[in-house]
Amino acid sequence: RGGQAEREVPFAQPGSLTRVYCVASGKGGVGKSSVTVNLAASMAADGLKVGVVDADIYGHSVPRMLGTDGRPTQVENMIMPPSAHGVKVISIGMFTPGNAPVVWRGPMLHRALQQFLADVYWGDLDVLLLDLPPGTGDIAISVAQLVPNAEILVVTTPQQAAAEVAERAGSIAVQTHQKIVGVVENMAGLPCPHCDEMVDVFGSGGGKQVAEGLTRTTGAEVPLLGQIPIDVRLREGGDEGKPVVLSDPDSPAGTAIRAVASAL
Ligand code: ADP
Repeated sequence: RGGQAEREVPFAQPGSLTRVYCVASGKGGVGKSSVTVNLAASMAADGLKVGVVDADIYGHSVPRMLGTDGRPTQVENMIMPPSAHGVKVISIGMFTPGNAPVVWRGPMLHRALQQFLADVYWGDLDVLLLDLPPGTGDIAISVAQLVPNAEILVVTTPQQAAAEVAERAGSIAVQTHQKIVGVVENMAGLPCPHCDEMVDVFGSGGGKQVAEGLTRTTGAEVPLLGQIPIDVRLREGGDEGKPVVLSDPDSPAGTAIRAVASAL
């Protein structure tokens, strides 16, 4: 729509009933996308109208994790998002030919995000989840400009180093005056398949550390909303496009993620 005025972002309008959550992490590989997809699927299974924006330019794994290779279609001048498991999804990967690596810079990403939020026909959503690239990149600032009332959900692992970077990522919210809704600790131990022991593969305490650190820096209570154990079924669910909250809701990871979804 070159030359035309930018459409307004409906979620930023006063009186918007859609809760917007940015799922953020300090670094990649901590399970941010897995958490996003499972929260979305869990909320949709509970009857909420849910959308996901996959803005993780490095990962853009959300469609695969939701089991869709659907393409967006164009109706009039709106983009219709494909949906899977009752979740509407739009991904940066849907607009890169042959899944070419994305080498976009800040302004292009801002523009893409603006379009994902304003030009996609989302309908009346209860919840919109944004899977952000890891780190404290420009995109977090863009989101804050485009949807000032978006709340931030921080994902970390129990590892101290991961916790420190997650805390730094979260404290961006102080600059942008956004609310941090809570912290989720992922890969929080591996239940031994042979006994009752929990093996702390990635150490322990990271989630609590981030929640306390962010409570200090923001001056507002930031709760640790849940601890998701390492669970083969979660990884398999992601690979097979059937989120564990649907394929095995009572598994340790499924139970933990459904509890976070209810707390949001
Ligand atoms: P990120 O979005 O932070 O880069 P992903 O969600 O892509 O991370 O997760 C990275 C890998 O780790 C994926 O293969 C995913 O299936 C796996 N994974 C994430 N969380 C868990 C968990 N709790 N148990 C087992 N595997 C997990």
